[in-house]
Amino acid sequence: MRPDLAPEHVRPLTPDETFRFSCHPGVACFTDCCRELELALSPYDVLRLSNHLGLAPSTFLDRYALVEQAEGSGFSRVFLCMVDDGRASCPFVTASGCRVYADRPGACRTYPLGRGAFTTPEGCRHEMHILLTEPHCQGFSEGELQDITAWQKDQDLAFYNAMNDELLPILHHPRLIDDHPPEEHEEEIFLLLYNLDTFRLQLLDRTLALPFSLTKSERQELATEDLALLRLGIRWLDHVLSQR
Ligand code: SF4
Ligand code: SF4
Repeated sequence: MRPDLAPEHVRPLTPDETFRFSCHPGVACFTDCCRELELALSPYDVLRLSNHLGLAPSTFLDRYALVEQAEGSGFSRVFLCMVDDGRASCPFVTASGCRVYADRPGACRTYPLGRGAFTTPEGCRHEMHILLTEPHCQGFSEGELQDITAWQKDQDLAFYNAMNDELLPILHHPRLIDDHPPEEHEEEIFLLLYNLDTFRLQLLDRTLALPFSLTKSERQELATEDLALLRLGIRWLDHVLSQR
């Protein structure tokens, strides 16, 4: 989403509302939306993109990402660096489209929707959506009417949303309030969620001291399974925050 989008181009969307939208190489604005972006990445986005490019996540982060220290009570945010080409283009946009399309970030899949999710104190998960009608985007005069469910299915978003929602307990942790922003070691664990090759290395050579023990089979799984490693990091950070 462009950072300067006016309020009249953003509106809440309920699950039973429909909208017309389609994006394809035939639209005159094709790839215009892949420039001048504030594109925040989740740990799962970085995992998918680095795998797609055949890079270790640490190399991907060095080449393509910018970590911005959060103000207030949140964790740092990781953004995709745009290219200095006079148009602030995404590093993955080409004349024929997105060169990482199969593993593009969740935000690119979700557009023209925006999604917010939260968990109630009772543990129920809720999500809210907005429709972003950016003036330059011609996709709104294309295609069939559809709703949120159809769009998420079309963009293969279910697993992205599920993985990103696994972060909610730490992002919205009740101990993480304005007076108590993340401490340095909590930030370090949070950034390891993005940097899974470094996390794995430190875990397996026992440089990291986890507050709980791992079985031999868990260690074996963590040596190769990225999602298990990501989930371990989330569990670790949740544990550390809960001990405050
Ligand atoms: S139709 Fe919208 S989403 Fe598609 S390329 Fe154009 S600006 Fe981007
Ligand atoms: S990752 Fe792909 S879809 Fe997303 S902004 Fe970059 S080129 Fe566009």
